[in-house]
Amino acid sequence: KFITFEGGEGAGKSTQVKLLVKRLRDLGLEVVQTREPGGSPGAEALRDLLVKGDASRWSPVSETLMMYASRADHLEKVIRPALERGAWVVCDRFADSTRAYQGAGGGISPDFIEQVDQVVVGDTQPDLTLILDMPVEVGLMRAKGRGGDEDRFEAKGIGFHERLRQGFVKRAAIAPDRYKIIDANQSIESISSDIWSQAMTQFSE
Ligand code: C5P
Repeated sequence: KFITFEGGEGAGKSTQVKLLVKRLRDLGLEVVQTREPGGSPGAEALRDLLVKGDASRWSPVSETLMMYASRADHLEKVIRPALERGAWVVCDRFADSTRAYQGAGGGISPDFIEQVDQVVVGDTQPDLTLILDMPVEVGLMRAKGRGGDEDRFEAKGIGFHERLRQGFVKRAAIAPDRYKIIDANQSIESISSDIWSQAMTQFSE
């Protein structure tokens, strides 16, 4: 099974990815935990080019193609081999981040993104996508509070972050079987238990 986590800045994805992976492993499952942009050596090299440096270095179209270049490598080297041997894959961000950040946020046409997605991702679509949703101001405050390198995407204006939040929500409405919106403005424990019940419902059949 292939599970992806999505959401804006500071939503707490990485914490929740770890908690879900642990619970699945406790059931005795083989779980591959990975992330985007990145997840394979080639894709991590592209990640450095994407997230470091000044915010206007790449145009949205360059970003889109670099995201999908890194995604192609990640799929070939890590995700598809894992799924083929029956492992579970839990990925922190995937193609819906491109739809939100470069599409809804950056103005790249949805048709273009879907054409590239068809070639790169094809049938390897996630079985479950958890969207960690919270007010933009709260997320940005949390992202700042965690310190470290403020990356170029967090530095964009509030309007950009509002567009991406709406982008995720709209996307979720297209395929409610696959997308579950999780209220991320709660305690870590509450978020984690909401995620666990969604996962159980999704995969109980
Ligand atoms: O989730 P994480 O903080 O690791 O993501 C790294 C950065 O890359 C984030 O700031 C995110 O906004 C950005 N990103 C992006 N477009 C994507 C995926 C991630 O702008 N398609």
